[in-house]
Order: sequence, then C-alpha cells, then structure tokens
Amino acid sequence: MVNLSVNSVSKSFQSRQGLVAALENVSLEVSHGEFVVLIGPSGCGKSTLLNIMAGLDEATSGHVLENGVDVKTPSRNRAVVFQDGGLFPWFTAQQNVAFGLKQMGIGKRERESLAAEYLDLVHLGRFRHSFVHELSGGMRQRVAIARALAVEPQILLMDEPFSALDAQTREDLYAIMQEISERKVRTVVFVTHNVREAACLGDRVILLSGRPGRVVAEYPVRISRPRFVDDANVAIAANRLAAAMKEGVANARKDEYDDDWHPKEIGLLHSSDGVMGDSI
Ligand code: ADP
Ligand code: MG
Repeated sequence: MVNLSVNSVSKSFQSRQGLVAALENVSLEVSHGEFVVLIGPSGCGKSTLLNIMAGLDEATSGHVLENGVDVKTPSRNRAVVFQDGGLFPWFTAQQNVAFGLKQMGIGKRERESLAAEYLDLVHLGRFRHSFVHELSGGMRQRVAIARALAVEPQILLMDEPFSALDAQTREDLYAIMQEISERKVRTVVFVTHNVREAACLGDRVILLSGRPGRVVAEYPVRISRPRFVDDANVAIAANRLAAAMKEGVANARKDEYDDDWHPKEIGLLHSSDGVMGDSI
C-alpha cells in the first residue's frame, strides 16, 4: 500500500543568478513500512525533496500525497531528523524527547515514561538526565531519533542524519536503525550521498541525477538483515550504486556540453535486472 507519493514535483529557487532549478519532474512512491533511500550527488536537490515531502517547503509544480491526501504543511505524522539533530541545548536528553509530547498535550507522567521508553530504544537510558553538551555527536543523533520516534509518526524522514559522524559511530547507528525498523515498523525515507550507507539500510534505493535532481533509476536491495557495512554483499551493492551514480552524474553533465563530448567510460554498471545484491 502506498504511503507517500511524489507526483511530477519540480522546484526552482529564485537566486541572484536568476531561477535555479533544484528538482525536475520527480515522481516516486514509498510503500507502508518500506525503507527507501534517496541518493544523489551533493546539491542535486535531495534536501529540497525531503523538505517538500515533510511539508516544510512547497513544490513549484506537482504535489506530494500522504495516504492519498495532499501534503501542504508539516504534520506530527511525518517526523524529520536533520544532519545536526536540532536538539535544544538547554534541555536534557529526556526533556528533548518529551518536548514534542508536551506539544501534543500528553501529561507529565506519560511524557516521562514515553521519553524513557524511546531513549531505551536507542540505548541511551543511562544518559537520560545528561545535557546535550555532555553527549557525543552519535549520542545526540540517537536523542534526535528518539525524539522523532516518540511522537509515534507513521513516516520518518531523515536528511543525511549520520554524515557528520565518524565511521565507527555510523556503524553503530546503522545497527540501531535496523533494530528500530524491525521493532517499530515505520516508513522511512532516508537521504544520503553515501553508497555504503544506502546499501546497508535501504529496502530500495532511488538514485537522483545531478542538479536539477531527476529520478535516474531505482534498485531493490535484496540482502538479508541484519546488514553490516563490511558485508561482501553490501560492498558489492554499494559498488554497483557508485558506478550507477557516476553514470547518472556523467549523463546529466553531458546535457551541459556539445554532442562531441563523451563522459569517461565506466566499467561496472548495475546488473541488467536492476537488483542490487543477491539474496542470501
Ligand atoms: P542536496 O541536499 O542534494 O545537497 P539541496 O536540496 O540542498 O541539495 O539544494 C539543491 C539546489 O537548490 C542547490 O543548488 C541549492 O543551492 C539550491 N537551493 C536549496 N535551497 C535553496 C533556497 N532556499 N534558496 C535558493 N537556492 C536553494
Ligand atoms: Mg542536503
């Protein structure tokens, strides 16, 4: 069943250089409970697309539907996690998680028990009374995830949430994300430019071209879980994605050149059936 659908979305921004096209005619669908990764080069419009899906920004043309209803404003049902977490520095971990619950009118006792439950889910129970500045980057992102999940949204939208973290911390968070997806089945749309991350997390990966972002290809990732970034199958899928991304970017660049210019050939492309990785 389709949870979110993006229909012919284009977006341009007015800048000093004139109109900048960020997205061009993007259409895609995300099913209930699916983990979809949007991947594409920096500046291709990934954040713009996620913001439009969240209802934080408006499409110039086209529209986004959530369960068949037009997305026009942010909603509790669509929680967003950004790269920097966006926590309130003057609050503790627990207070950050409880904040959204208070806005919903949930009483103090229930807020506290829900906040504790979600901090436990991201393995931060022991740190519930720590202030944001006392937490590492990875811990802060775990608080941000707990805060997003605590309001029990149906859809979780994540914009490069782990890109500022070191490799080891990122790996821990991949494990936590997979645990969460299994225990609290939700629809996730996850933006990244990291092919390994995409192959490690996604049920399906949607590749966007360079700016203006267009959908170049979609790949189901049929690798059993739990997955680890160092798994051979994840590495193979990531390599195929990297090659497809290069090709997509090269083709997009080609539009900006005369016909006698050819992007450098790349060897390994995605398999003909578009499946990233084999089932184990
Ligand atoms: P990504 O997240 O893929 O790196 P963005 O969605 O942030 O890309 O940006 C896509 C393009 O749109 C970029 O060229 C960026 O400069 C431009 N852009 C994004 N937001 C704005 C804005 N508010 N005003 C003007 N230009 C913007
Ligand atoms: Mg971005």
